[in-house]
Amino acid sequence: MPLARCEGIVIKTYALGDTSRIVVVYTREHGLLKLVAKGARKTPSRFGFALEPLSRSRFVIYHKPDRDLHLLSQADTLAPNGSEIADLARLAHAEAALELIDRLVWGEEPHAELFDLLATTVESVTRAPLASLGAITIAFELQAASLLGYRPRLDACAACGGGLSLRRVFSPAHGGLLCDRCAGEPGAVLLSADALAGLTLLLSRPVSQAGEFLEVQQAGEILKVVEAFLRHRFERFQGLRSLELLRALASDEPKVSNPCPA
Ligand SMILES: [Zn+2]
Repeated sequence: MPLARCEGIVIKTYALGDTSRIVVVYTREHGLLKLVAKGARKTPSRFGFALEPLSRSRFVIYHKPDRDLHLLSQADTLAPNGSEIADLARLAHAEAALELIDRLVWGEEPHAELFDLLATTVESVTRAPLASLGAITIAFELQAASLLGYRPRLDACAACGGGLSLRRVFSPAHGGLLCDRCAGEPGAVLLSADALAGLTLLLSRPVSQAGEFLEVQQAGEILKVVEAFLRHRFERFQGLRSLELLRALASDEPKVSNPCPA
């Protein structure tokens, strides 16, 4: 069996029998991998933090190209991101990034740019000011969809290619702005000028800077449009459950300093 080395971010884990674990990892070299980690549920585990969700780790695996599961030989932690997060809002946004990858990506298809985007996003969510988290998450959603071939069209009508309506009509179903003739499409929404400007910036600027140019009020408007757009484009996307929990907590407990924008 060929030994392969790769670097990845742990998406989720499940128990396997009494002592082992299945670990789902988004890797730079192979895309989404499912690894069998024997003995990972023993305490203390020989893997340390390397298999915890959000950790960025280096793996040595027995990679069998035609198999769904691969045996993990060794794992070393590069960044134990999850263990460094003490704040609930931060944790929810970090988990939202993992959830999005889990919903948008399928199988062992490497995509180095998407891996780098995920790594930067997890790092940003761990360190950015709390008020920036909503903007970082939306920027990640938009940029991940773009890298997977679904960049929202903002330069011409997404339905017919014609000139854009001055009313800023966005169609989640067509994945972009519309012209006046197509503006009657069901589900199309009118964007404020600020929201459109925010959307444009979130698509083009580094995720780590997203909080610097987006107000929380615009983030709510943009998040709704972006999530409707993702639902149309990705069958397995049904909104980010990690953020729903945060919203529920925020409405119970006004002290949470950074309720998710919506
Ligand atoms: Zn049109």
